[in-house]
Amino acid sequence: MTSERAAATPRPGVMAIAPYQVGGARIDGAAPAFKLSANENPWGPSPRAVAAYREAACRLADYPDADSGALRRAIGEVQGLDPDRIICGNGSDELLQLLALAYARDGDEVVYSRHGFLLYPSYALMNGATPVAAAETDLTADVDALLAACSERTRLVYLANPNNPTGTRLNAQEIERLAVGVPENALLVIDGAYAEFVDAEDFDAGASLIARRPNVVMTRTFSKIYGLAALRVGWMHAAPDVIDVINRIRGPYNLNMAAQAAAAEAMRDVEYTARIKAETLRLRASLTAALGDAGVPTTGSECNFVLAHFGTAPETGAAAADAYLKARGIIARRMEAYGLAGHLRISIGTEAACVAVAEAVAAFRGVS
Ligand SMILES: *Cc1c(COP(=O)(O)O)cnc(C)c1O
Repeated sequence: MTSERAAATPRPGVMAIAPYQVGGARIDGAAPAFKLSANENPWGPSPRAVAAYREAACRLADYPDADSGALRRAIGEVQGLDPDRIICGNGSDELLQLLALAYARDGDEVVYSRHGFLLYPSYALMNGATPVAAAETDLTADVDALLAACSERTRLVYLANPNNPTGTRLNAQEIERLAVGVPENALLVIDGAYAEFVDAEDFDAGASLIARRPNVVMTRTFSKIYGLAALRVGWMHAAPDVIDVINRIRGPYNLNMAAQAAAAEAMRDVEYTARIKAETLRLRASLTAALGDAGVPTTGSECNFVLAHFGTAPETGAAAADAYLKARGIIARRMEAYGLAGHLRISIGTEAACVAVAEAVAAFRGVS
């Protein structure tokens, strides 16, 4: 007989959450030549952000600004938004979680699209709510399916636009149709983690929609184009009611001082951000073409990664391709957890990284 027993029972749903697998960072214990598994900015943040971070080291004894005022003003000025309708978070992950904590509970439902970000169902489960996946069309969110997945118990609809890991995006008309169609008591959360990479004149990641529809929330991050993933900074824009709710439940010092200072400078360095975007799009186009030449199709990604379709055949499929790339110091992201076993997600790295991937895939496919 064993006297072992569980220490305590967690709330229902918690043990149904699959522990989040982060993108690989090592190969046989060694740093890879190219880590292309987490959609990080391979050039790093603006030098102005790094300078602000160093300077913060001289001011470590005081608590940070409890409402990230200077950072919210920087975001507001650059993005043309009211800083009072912005909340900053410890990564957008914190804000996405707080939205579920505030709005979803036992018996409620949280809708997301089939190949949406893996954490959305976790946010539902940790609050006792039920995640409901809506089918996609051609690896793109489908508004009709999302609306059909909604019920009177739906409290949140999470949609990354453009989406990770598919890279695809709904246009403004489709997003508006979704916002209009979701149940009255549900929030539409548009996760704009990759919004800065979208190259379309009329794209605003949902900001103008929020001005008209108070049930829409937009989250954004400093982890991708701004190159500050290590500091964990995100922000959300929403109607005053939602801002008030989230401000009541967030920790008073949820964002540390060095992160606030660095992110404000990163936001203000618009010229640096534009350069990162231009370089990423240039390299994405050349990598997409090279993979196509090697017979590997990709989705039409609007993000800083491509989703490459290798299939699942033992010799030529995604698992074999992943092993081949790893042997050459390249870490891509396997997609089994997303139900896309035949795909690899490959972040856009430096020019050297993209060339290495293109050459390795061509060799793998026997076309070089
Ligand atoms: C990377 C990513 C985020 C950002 O998360 P942070 O917590 O801000 O680092 C959010 N949503 C999606 C879909 C992402 O891919």
